[in-house]
Amino acid sequence: MTNKHKLDFTKYPLLNTIKQGQEVFWKNPMLLKTEEATNQTAYSVKDIEDAEARLQRFAHFIRVAYPETEDTKGIIESPLSDITDMKQYLNSVNESTVEGQFLLKRDDLLPISGTIKARGAIYEVLKHAETLALKEGLLKDIHDDYALFASEAFQRFFSDYTIAVGTTGNLGISVGTMGRQLGFNVTVHMSVEAKQWKKDYLREKGVNVIEHDTDFSKAVENGRAESDADPKSYFVDDEHSVELFLGYTVGGMRMKKQLTEQGITVDADHPLFMYLPCGIGGSPGGITFGLKQAFGEHVHCFFAEPTKMPSMLMGLSTEQYDNVSVFDLELGGLTIADGLAVPRTSGLVAKLMKNLFSGGYSVKDEVFKGLLHRLYEEEGVFLEPAAVAGLIGPYRMLSSEDGQAYLEENKLTSKLANATHIAWATGGSMVPVKDREAFLEDAARYPL
Ligand SMILES: *Cc1c(COP(=O)(O)O)cnc(C)c1O
Repeated sequence: MTNKHKLDFTKYPLLNTIKQGQEVFWKNPMLLKTEEATNQTAYSVKDIEDAEARLQRFAHFIRVAYPETEDTKGIIESPLSDITDMKQYLNSVNESTVEGQFLLKRDDLLPISGTIKARGAIYEVLKHAETLALKEGLLKDIHDDYALFASEAFQRFFSDYTIAVGTTGNLGISVGTMGRQLGFNVTVHMSVEAKQWKKDYLREKGVNVIEHDTDFSKAVENGRAESDADPKSYFVDDEHSVELFLGYTVGGMRMKKQLTEQGITVDADHPLFMYLPCGIGGSPGGITFGLKQAFGEHVHCFFAEPTKMPSMLMGLSTEQYDNVSVFDLELGGLTIADGLAVPRTSGLVAKLMKNLFSGGYSVKDEVFKGLLHRLYEEEGVFLEPAAVAGLIGPYRMLSSEDGQAYLEENKLTSKLANATHIAWATGGSMVPVKDREAFLEDAARYPL
């Protein structure tokens, strides 16, 4: 399947650079004011509030099933950490200097599954469980105590049903862990990137793991077809899922309270810049949607992809969304950033977000490794490769033509000293020690 005829290199000269595997920084010309952009989508603050309310209802169940969430009373959230040492290091080796604050959002520390997927995927599994329980009368209504979901009766009920998913690994971990906890049968279709430890981990939890020697898009296709053939099977569809997207939006919205609590101001004179690792687009898209509802024009959200898999960059910059894939540019080789190894973006998310993302950029494998090593050295924080992509964001913005143009057009240049930059760390705490050591040893050979 090729769509080369759709790719007009004269109209989109950026494609030449992308095709050569070079890093790019792209300013989104379709960005609109938040209200105008939101009005063109089917979603609003109401949908985020509905998702938040559902997570609150399930908090008692989460608290019972996962005692490690006692501190947050069953709410799955992560801290925001200062990374001044890393900032100083990056300032010393880059041509540009980041002023203002530089923070790390620690989704690597999220309880239950240790990646950003714990937001969207767990939300979708919970919503499915709630829908079934209400439909079949196990729950009278949404005011029942959801600790019932930890009971044997509920477990027995859900053991009649299956949840399936196609994944590069982490989505499977989140869906599999929560699905099994509730008593569902779970089938996870793994793409070729999936790490062995993720398969072992899931099999230990009683998940049926099916290994595909194909890329992510194909693994999803196979999983969807198999699941659709079984009326009692529900497919968590990374390419088309509104529930995943809405689960992620909550994370963006909750930043408002977290920043306030940490004394960080976000307003016209104190811009907030966010840098979000991007695979299929659901997590950076949903979180950006929530952030834009919370902060409007004062937040600027950029997605980050590997140079080998820049599927959102391609889909948005050509306005071809999921009609193009990285294979059309003869890209798509294995990347160290396995969590971002998605050759074709989600059409749903790309179209929803086309007027809300400020832009995006791409990162070479060597840079992923350099950042992984350096963050560990400077801050003692180990992240999985995909999760470090945001750390280079402010430097790419400041040193690129498109980045500078963005700052000028939005009258941000004079406000940079008051700015807050946040790199969203998307995973890492679950990586086994052996794999962690191998990553660190390899990464040490790639200085930034
Ligand atoms: C899945 C994932 C992402 C990206 O999320 P998408 O919804 O696929 O865009 C980023 N980092 C890690 C560690 C992930 O597992």
